[in-house]
Amino acid sequence: MDMKRAMTIAGSDSGGGAGIQADLKTFQELKVFGTSALTAVTAQNTLGVQGVFPMDAEAVAKQIQSVGEDIGTDALKTGMLFNAEIIEAVAEKIKQFGWEKVVVDPVMIAKGGASLLQQEAVSALKNHLLPLCLVVTPNIPEAEVLTGMTIHSQDDKKEAARRIHVLGAKNLVIKGGHDKDANESVDLLFNGENFEVFSFPRVETRSTHGTGCTFSAAITAQLAKGLTVYDAVSVAKEFIHSAIANPLNIGQGHGPTNHWA
Ligand code: PLP
Repeated sequence: MDMKRAMTIAGSDSGGGAGIQADLKTFQELKVFGTSALTAVTAQNTLGVQGVFPMDAEAVAKQIQSVGEDIGTDALKTGMLFNAEIIEAVAEKIKQFGWEKVVVDPVMIAKGGASLLQQEAVSALKNHLLPLCLVVTPNIPEAEVLTGMTIHSQDDKKEAARRIHVLGAKNLVIKGGHDKDANESVDLLFNGENFEVFSFPRVETRSTHGTGCTFSAAITAQLAKGLTVYDAVSVAKEFIHSAIANPLNIGQGHGPTNHWA
């Protein structure tokens, strides 16, 4: 059976809603073979992050090497990378294997406020990883950190998109989920020339833990299957909308994404 492969380079969420667990569940649901390189272990549940334990950069590089030299991958995504050493190690391996279908979810801060990327690592992300990526998927706060600007309007989003493109990302999606005043959740895709808008009605729910991870994993799975960036983002947007619209009743806090959606 011809099976496409997708790799996630990300942190573990013991609560199963975000991180490596979300990515592998999404790969499984979208019928690609998932592999992983763990960057950190988080002690976490629906109430928040209780502990963060990063891996050595060498251990991250070694996992990617093991997957790359035997199994290979048709596409990969990065999630929580935590520090500059890990970012540099990941960038080195992507270059070594010549991987091009690279999706970077620039994970910075969990919804509960825990830091998943050290502040001094932001420049490593911009300098080493963004130039290697096919798609980067910041939410509004992450786009603000990457560009140094404040985003209030759709025009601000477009300006931020232009600035992130200049950093080297070939395509980018600025996700509208944090745009709390809007009735629609509007994602903006930019390929350096054209803007495309993906809009779905906003769903009021607390069960959004891991939606960013799941969205970028869904894009990665579709790229692994050979879809164009536009089609991959379009299918992933439908997948994540359906996940948010069908929340699971799990845990006492911010419930996990429904990966069967
Ligand atoms: N924990 C890990 C390990 C993650 O990779 C991510 C991804 O963004 C999160 C938590 C974020 O969770 P939340 O969706 O609650 O912000």
